[in-house]
Amino acid sequence: MVRLGLVRDIDLALHLPLRYEDETRIVPIRNAREGEVAQIEGTVLSCEVQLHPRRQLVVVIDDGTGRCELRFFSFYPSQQKAMAVGERLRVRGEVRGGFWGRQMVHPAFRKAEGLLPTALTPVYPASAQLPQAYLRRAIATALTRVPLDETLPADLPPPPVQLHHESRPKGLWNLRESLLFLHHPTPEVSLAQLEDRTHPAWQRLKAEELLAQQLSQCMARAQRARLRAPVLAPSQAADSLHAQLLATLPFTLTAAQRRVSREIARDLARAQPMHRLLQGDVGAGKTVVAALAACVAIDAGWQCALMVPTEILAGQHFARLVQWLAPLLDARGQCVAWLVGGQKKKEREQMLVRIASGEAALVVGTHAVIQQTVRFARLGLAIIDEQHRFGVAQRLALRQKPADAGEDAPEPHLLMMTATPIPRTLAMSYYADLDVSTIDELPPGRTPIVTRVIADSRRDEVIARMADQVREGRQTYWVCPLIEESEQLDLRNATATHAELCEALPGVAVGLLHSRMPAAEKQAVMQGFKAGQIAVLVSTTVIEVGVDVPNASLMVIEHAERFGLSQLHQLRGRVGRGAPASACVLLFSMGDSGHLGENARERLKAMAQTHDGFEIARRDLEIRGPGEFLGARQSGDAMLRFADLEMDGALLQWARAAAPWMLERHPRLAGQHIERWLGGRAQFLKA
Ligand code: ADP
Ligand code: MG
Repeated sequence: MVRLGLVRDIDLALHLPLRYEDETRIVPIRNAREGEVAQIEGTVLSCEVQLHPRRQLVVVIDDGTGRCELRFFSFYPSQQKAMAVGERLRVRGEVRGGFWGRQMVHPAFRKAEGLLPTALTPVYPASAQLPQAYLRRAIATALTRVPLDETLPADLPPPPVQLHHESRPKGLWNLRESLLFLHHPTPEVSLAQLEDRTHPAWQRLKAEELLAQQLSQCMARAQRARLRAPVLAPSQAADSLHAQLLATLPFTLTAAQRRVSREIARDLARAQPMHRLLQGDVGAGKTVVAALAACVAIDAGWQCALMVPTEILAGQHFARLVQWLAPLLDARGQCVAWLVGGQKKKEREQMLVRIASGEAALVVGTHAVIQQTVRFARLGLAIIDEQHRFGVAQRLALRQKPADAGEDAPEPHLLMMTATPIPRTLAMSYYADLDVSTIDELPPGRTPIVTRVIADSRRDEVIARMADQVREGRQTYWVCPLIEESEQLDLRNATATHAELCEALPGVAVGLLHSRMPAAEKQAVMQGFKAGQIAVLVSTTVIEVGVDVPNASLMVIEHAERFGLSQLHQLRGRVGRGAPASACVLLFSMGDSGHLGENARERLKAMAQTHDGFEIARRDLEIRGPGEFLGARQSGDAMLRFADLEMDGALLQWARAAAPWMLERHPRLAGQHIERWLGGRAQFLKA
């Protein structure tokens, strides 16, 4: 039960049925219709084992209106005895109306005795270790014990529940009524309303759930407002790192970059920790905004950590930041450090010393940055790039880093960056506790990317086109599919494609990149591609995020149907970063069944039609749901169980308005409400 998260009585009470079985009625056999699940009751006329066409127990029952044959292909002698001639049975199963009369195959049956239940029988999400019957008993017991006192304050405007329920013209359902009802609904209820969760009892639960979630977000915000963060006021000096970086950049910032930089600087100058998400489409230029924020922190005498999801991206950010900042930092006796998993021990130790002494003003790395052994002298700002790739636990760990440095070390400011924008509904719910800055403009001089959806059978044409590009001095990516079950397979695929392209493109330098390669080798291949020595880079999705090679003009994605939309958008964003006209080819294969699923085709078509990351994220959310979108699997944390952000927009609005009011006016009830709904999970919702 613990595995299903069923620890407290309230957890059991909130474990709601998947569906119901109607055992409240007996259907006369004559009226039992084919295809219908029916409960019938009758007397056994015959009970015999047949051997042809295969061994089976065949029982015939009669209720005076008609006969029904019951067939069992596996059975125990005890069951045979229970269905002996003359016994009266209550049988439940799907009616088949074959040529030989009515039949049920493997129906559930028991002796016909006792009263019929008056409520529908719940069917719970169960597991092999936790059988249905056991769960039913545990939940029924929990329901009798669990305190379900009202937590919604009497003076709170009620949630906008639509009361189109015919049979009970009453006001809002309370929690107790709602739960008792949903576990054991009366048979006259509309099953459609139960199934699509529009029944008032369902709506009440959803309202409560959304309120709990909004309350916890409000509380996280209030808690953070009480925390102390270093005041990182911008330096006015002309020789500040910030001013010097701006002066040395090879381009001028876009208006959007300047605006978000100001928003960030304003937060950094406050004594409360920043909690800001910087979103901007692929190629919008987030890195330089992050670098400028780092400069503000360093100018104020603090360290900055930049955490990214892959070693390749870490290497690239490191190279770029070193290029920008190292000469400036050097003059101050400071440096940029870097930390990744596959690093040599000696190098790593050297880095750790520099980080601990404060000599490393900026630390770039993968999640190696949040390991126990990493001690910062004065961490003032933590930046997480491609934040959607990290789990909640990792984000929390980075924020809690200074706690290692001592109890009263201040909290660092937190800046998260993403190219996968958060759709509005999610921004209002899961990210309600987050301030958002958006870069809504691309740097000038970009040429739009042309996207084509092409069948894998035309692979040769695509390779020929690639050869053309290479002849013109352009570079191309070839991304191999993601095969979820096995990294091994991924690898084999990339290796095979690499061999295929080497053969098809004689005299062309074709490189190979995948996640199993040692860090140094990865860096070398990436360097070669950046420097233009490698013309075609075959890779697994390790290049998905952030990689920046402006001369690359063609991106081929194999088995595009296996990728999520946002991921395709990220991959496509690897090209079109410079002046050359760029293209993205989405290769799809028909699959074993000989056709590409309609859904998959729609998705790929959407990619060809739009380049707007927001629109793509919205469709992705529609297709995959928020759990997937938020990377819930990584955090192991359950998302909303009952409410649906799209469908329950009105309830979400209500909860958003109610939460801050309730926290202020009824803090005790608010606490009870969160405890009931979220229990120990509240901590996770903060990150
Ligand atoms: P992303 O937002 O996807 O992380 P990057 O920060 O990698 O984008 O920037 C993409 C490219 O655009 C980089 O080569 C970067 O140097 C360049 N760039 C960033 N800002 C500007 C600008 N204002 N003008 C011209 N080029 C810019
Ligand atoms: Mg980036």
